[in-house]
Amino acid sequence: MIVLKFGGTSLGSTERIKSVGQLIRAGGRKIVVLSAISGTTNLLEKYAHLLYKNENTDARELLESLKSQYLKTVGELFSTEEHKKKGQELISHHFDYLESFNRDLFTLYEEKAVLAQGELISTALMNFYLEESGCISVLLPALSFMRIDKDHEPDLFYIRENIKREIGKSPECNIFITQGFICRDAFGEVDNLKRGGSDYSASLIGQALDAQEIQIWTDIDGFHNNDPRFVSSTKRIDKLSFDEAAELAYFGAKILHPTSVKPAQMSNIPVRLKNTLDPESPGTIITASTDTYGRIKAVAAKDGITSIRIKSGRMLLAYGFLRKVFEIFERHQTAIDMITTSEVSVSVTIDDDKHIDEIENDLRKYGTVELMPDQSIVCVVGDLIAESSGMARKVIDALHDIPIRMISYGSSSNNISLLINTDNKEKALNELSNHLFQ
Ligand code: ASP
Ligand code: MG
Repeated sequence: MIVLKFGGTSLGSTERIKSVGQLIRAGGRKIVVLSAISGTTNLLEKYAHLLYKNENTDARELLESLKSQYLKTVGELFSTEEHKKKGQELISHHFDYLESFNRDLFTLYEEKAVLAQGELISTALMNFYLEESGCISVLLPALSFMRIDKDHEPDLFYIRENIKREIGKSPECNIFITQGFICRDAFGEVDNLKRGGSDYSASLIGQALDAQEIQIWTDIDGFHNNDPRFVSSTKRIDKLSFDEAAELAYFGAKILHPTSVKPAQMSNIPVRLKNTLDPESPGTIITASTDTYGRIKAVAAKDGITSIRIKSGRMLLAYGFLRKVFEIFERHQTAIDMITTSEVSVSVTIDDDKHIDEIENDLRKYGTVELMPDQSIVCVVGDLIAESSGMARKVIDALHDIPIRMISYGSSSNNISLLINTDNKEKALNELSNHLFQ
């Protein structure tokens, strides 16, 4: 069994839905995980925000315009009257449900139910489309197997038991279509795996079924050695290790959601990144082994970083100081990305500044606090530690006229992270490209 996941842009037009249908029909037994059609989840989120604010007229207009887009898609996608009618009924059913929330009170639980409609629609449409083109597929309802526990972590035992049961109901079928992103929470309510979570769904399904391979289909031919949005001469990477892919995904490469690496890594299932616009391209394969040895593989950058420096004479020769600092971040449920220390100060970076005021307040008990917003982490991935390689020096040389605020090096053998002003990011990525890859 292999798992194939197609993202929203791969379903972004009728033509693209049809070509994904062709890709699904080829080959052996598979589970297909679909996102919502591109733009839908954003619009549903916007709809929910209008409902929170009781802006019922705007909400109705938004929904009507989205509905007519879907009806247009249905008209173009299906060729028989029977399937056009099926498609229209499907759209009406989901949009009636969405409309039923457009009244006085709107809750977080209801928002989750609203967001889920995007994936429920895209998968049902694909299933009808395959049916019309004479291909037998079965719709697997993700809400009957995908579940998170009370800590919001996937409940693998539950997922495994239930997806196996669902698949077992159709032993003769080769193609199963299911929703990415959506799940139930520990109380059985509709929930989701957070924005961009369809990749995570695919990886969890792969793990639950001990799949042979997890394929993530997007519209780029795999991981590139630099960010194609800022650097013109990027190249596709053939092979990455799970650790390298996790670093790149976390630090900015948009092609794969960072959470999706772990389940595949834990069960040692290869992840292949493929391009729907160029299905013959081999893409990038992510496995346990690395082929980097003394070589830098890729560079990525993540924006929206704030650095926080805490300076305190009490840190000198003291123990327990860092624990107290870290506890503050834990209390405010804020993850730290980078850390550097000197004898009397510690600097950390965060990418979620929701609780920054409370954090700053609490940190002031321990010393002076300096905040620096608008930073970017540039992450260089490859074999950086090999003694003979001198790779770290090359990285620093490449950035010789860009002020570096923090450097994190040595905690893993495949990553060096540098903190710079976001204004300097494009220059940094290009300099690294010139020095490391040309
Ligand atoms: N549709 C969801 C989102 O836009 C999940 C995904 O596409 O991965 O965030
Ligand atoms: Mg995505």
